[in-house]
Formats: sequence, structure tokens, C-alpha cells
Amino acid sequence: MGRFLQNSLNTTALSASFLLILGCSGSGDPQGAALRSGGGGSHPGAYLAGAPRYHYPNVGRGSHLLRGAPNPSSPGEASGRTVVVSQAVPQKAPASLYAEVRVSKDYLPRSAKGRRGQRSMKPRYITIHSTQNWSKGADPWRHSLALKRSKLGKLSWHYTIDEKLAVQHLPTNITGRHADFDGPGNRYSIGIEMCEHPGNSRTRTVDRTAKLAAYLMYKHSIPLSKVVPHYHWPRYGMNPPHKNCPHFLLDNGRPGRKWRGFQARVKKYYDQITVRGAAYASR
Ligand SMILES: [Zn+2]
Repeated sequence: MGRFLQNSLNTTALSASFLLILGCSGSGDPQGAALRSGGGGSHPGAYLAGAPRYHYPNVGRGSHLLRGAPNPSSPGEASGRTVVVSQAVPQKAPASLYAEVRVSKDYLPRSAKGRRGQRSMKPRYITIHSTQNWSKGADPWRHSLALKRSKLGKLSWHYTIDEKLAVQHLPTNITGRHADFDGPGNRYSIGIEMCEHPGNSRTRTVDRTAKLAAYLMYKHSIPLSKVVPHYHWPRYGMNPPHKNCPHFLLDNGRPGRKWRGFQARVKKYYDQITVRGAAYASR
């Protein structure tokens, strides 16, 4: 692998391609059953664009408690009670979290190999990768250039992230080719690649990735259990079928403590934009 990494900038892209396809090994936990921890119910898509921006669940739930209304579920309890709802809002607006990721859109042209023949998609999963491209300067913009110039063959994915920013290569309603050939990982998931070039902080890159994953969960009503490592998707015909990717978030090539730590980080950011403050009922 090493010789691919020492090549010039132009072939950096090619080495990335090679490594993405062949570069790692995994072990065979079928379907990544260990991954399916974590709660993360989906959130209603109603929050996406229009008003009302925030939802006050206690208003609806407590409406039968409004003064004078009968309470069918607890007769005798409710009459005369008034619900007062606090200014219950998430700690952070989703748009603020998204702004922290610093996403620039730099889409592949429709003529690029990575975009040709791609289908429309309603994303159900978010797949996390790392580039395994340790070349100097192999940052999101460099990968974007390689994708736009069709230097990575038919490979494509949606976002590349490093410690400073993210570049989006495809709209999230179009499939990429980053996970499992014709499998569901490609057909239904948003692909995010984390950079590994020299000098790039892995900690900050992972943190930024967690923010983006949380935002995309919110935007597309994707539960935490469907934020998965590339490892999750078996690649039929490959040996081993499960790729050790992203290698630095797996333990011995499979999801474990490090992956659970990443999930917890994603959940933390997701909660920031979705969990409402307490509401109070009083007489
Ligand atoms: Zn991968």
C-alpha cells in the first residue's frame, strides 16, 4: 500500500481509489449485529423546512387538560387544570449545528464517472468511512477534485470531512458508490469519508463527522441505529466481506468500544438539536 501513498498529487486520487476498494480487511461479524445498539428514534419530518420550526409535544398531549375540558383517560383528574408550557426549545438550532460543520457544496458534474448512472435515493442510513489516503494534502478539496475529474473510477460518496471543513460531492437524494457495490449500503446510504492526511487532527475530524451525522439524522429522519460504519455492509464476493473501515473507529476490525463512543458523540449532538426542555403543568 505504501508506494501508492508516496505518489504525486495526481496519483493521490488513484491511490485513494485503490485503497478504498482493496485497502483494508475486516472480520466477519454478519451484518454487524453488534452495531444495533443505541436508541435514537426517528424524528418527524415535519421539522424539516416550514413553520413551525419547533414542536411542543406537551401542548398536544396536554390539550385535554385545558380548563374545562373533560379528560377521557383520567376522569376526575383534569377538570380545571391549565397547562403552562415553558419556552421549550432544543439547546441549539439545527442550522447552527450544520453551520459548525462548515459544508461547502462542490458537486460532481453529471458527466463524471462517479455520478453517471446514479439513481435517486431516499436515504435511510449514514455510512461512515475513512479515506485511508495518507498522502500529504489529501484533504476534502483534493478528494473533490479527484472525483470531479473522474480519477477514482466509478467511486463516489456524499461528503469528505477533515479537521477544518466538509465538502459535499453529491446531493443526498442521489446514490453514491462507496459501500457494497449493488447492495443496500450504496442504494440507501449517505456516504461520509473522514480524511487521514498528515497533520490532520483525527479527534477534530471525528467530532465534525459526528455533528454532520447528527444533522443528517435530523434532516432525513434516520435513527442512530442506522448510522453505521462501512464495516456494516458485507461486500459479496470480497474476502473478507466486511471491511475494516473506518479502521480507527473499530476495535480489532469490528465495531466495539470506539464505535460506541462515536455513537454517543453523534447522539449528544442529535440531542442538542432535538430534545426539548421541560414543560410544566400547573393549576
Ligand atoms: Zn469505507
